[in-house]
Amino acid sequence: MRPLFPLAGRYIAGTEIEDAVEAARRLNSEGIMAAIDNLGENVRTEAKAAQSVSEYLKLLDAIVKRGVGSSVSLKLTHLGLDVSGDVAYENAEAIVKKALAAGISVRLDMEGAAYTQRTLDVFFKLRSRYENVGVAIQSYLRRSAADVAAIIAAKGSVRLVKGAYKEPPQIAFPDKKDVDANFLKLMQGLLLNGKMPAIATHDESLVNGAITFAEANKIPKDAFEFEMLLGIKRGLQRDLADRGFRVRVYVPYGKNWGPYTLRRLRERKENIWFVLKNLIPLFRGNHTKCGSGAKGRGSDGLGRLFSEASWKIKR
Ligand SMILES: Cc1cc2nc3c(=O)[nH]c(=O)nc-3n(C[C@H](O)[C@H](O)[C@H](O)COP(=O)(O)OP(=O)(O)OC[C@H]3O[C@@H](n4cnc5c(N)ncnc54)[C@H](O)[C@@H]3O)c2cc1C
Repeated sequence: MRPLFPLAGRYIAGTEIEDAVEAARRLNSEGIMAAIDNLGENVRTEAKAAQSVSEYLKLLDAIVKRGVGSSVSLKLTHLGLDVSGDVAYENAEAIVKKALAAGISVRLDMEGAAYTQRTLDVFFKLRSRYENVGVAIQSYLRRSAADVAAIIAAKGSVRLVKGAYKEPPQIAFPDKKDVDANFLKLMQGLLLNGKMPAIATHDESLVNGAITFAEANKIPKDAFEFEMLLGIKRGLQRDLADRGFRVRVYVPYGKNWGPYTLRRLRERKENIWFVLKNLIPLFRGNHTKCGSGAKGRGSDGLGRLFSEASWKIKR
């Protein structure tokens, strides 16, 4: 069994490349594409960033070898953005170049607002040389309309998301209804003028809004795609694929699952019960339900790992 805890297991394919490729293969068998992401962020040294590059190059080999339909997603702070923009650019370029030769596209995730401009700087530089690179844009940021316009002008591909980090109201809409309204507005612009935009949300009213808008404007189904995260709204993913829409699921894998898992868990208040259900056995000293990874660690092991994951999360 995979060495994963139930807390992460819903959202993460596993810890190894093979786990991610196998998850992609299963999605492909349902007519769904994958976007595999090697979990990790905020590496502080060039040596660690080089390890991340090496993992991504192996991942590309595995995608080709297994013949799965998958792009890759990456975070620039996993490739050394905290060291320097040049280091992150060179590392990303090595991955983008190899992916291009294999016919695979690469998407830059968007991290906290401290990285927005630096991520876009790297994106535009890559985009001026390589066709196969896209970037995520967050509808909660007030600046995003201008960023989307600039990316459309550069014929870049946007993955539109709501945004997963905690940002101050000066730069981000504090109310969910404004985030959703901005998503709708940006989505419509992207559907009309964008290059293969990805509508990345599990919000059914926005998904339905995209379908209605595309139909009304005679935008073909193969001119955009819906993207969702592994473990969320599986039924909707399959339903859209069955109806002939392009659907891609983000498949994260790797040992650094803490920050990603916590972003997913805190996104939804119902998840607190999920967390408690998994933590209660620890207080009872019964950790056998915590998956094979918990074996031999004892309850302190999960507690320690959970708190390690907690301190790693910055926002
Ligand atoms: C493919 C993809 C890539 C992403 N990349 C980025 C990125 O680069 N940068 C970034 O900041 N954010 C990224 N995100 C996350 C995104 O910003 C949101 O935090 C996340 O998608 C939840 O928002 P939502 O659009 O689904 O809408 P919400 O209104 O939050 O959710 C709609 C419904 O989806 C379900 N749902 C949502 N989240 C969860 C959850 N965690 N667990 C269980 N059910 C849930 C619930 O039923 C909820 O009612 C990405 C999301 C996707 C789908």
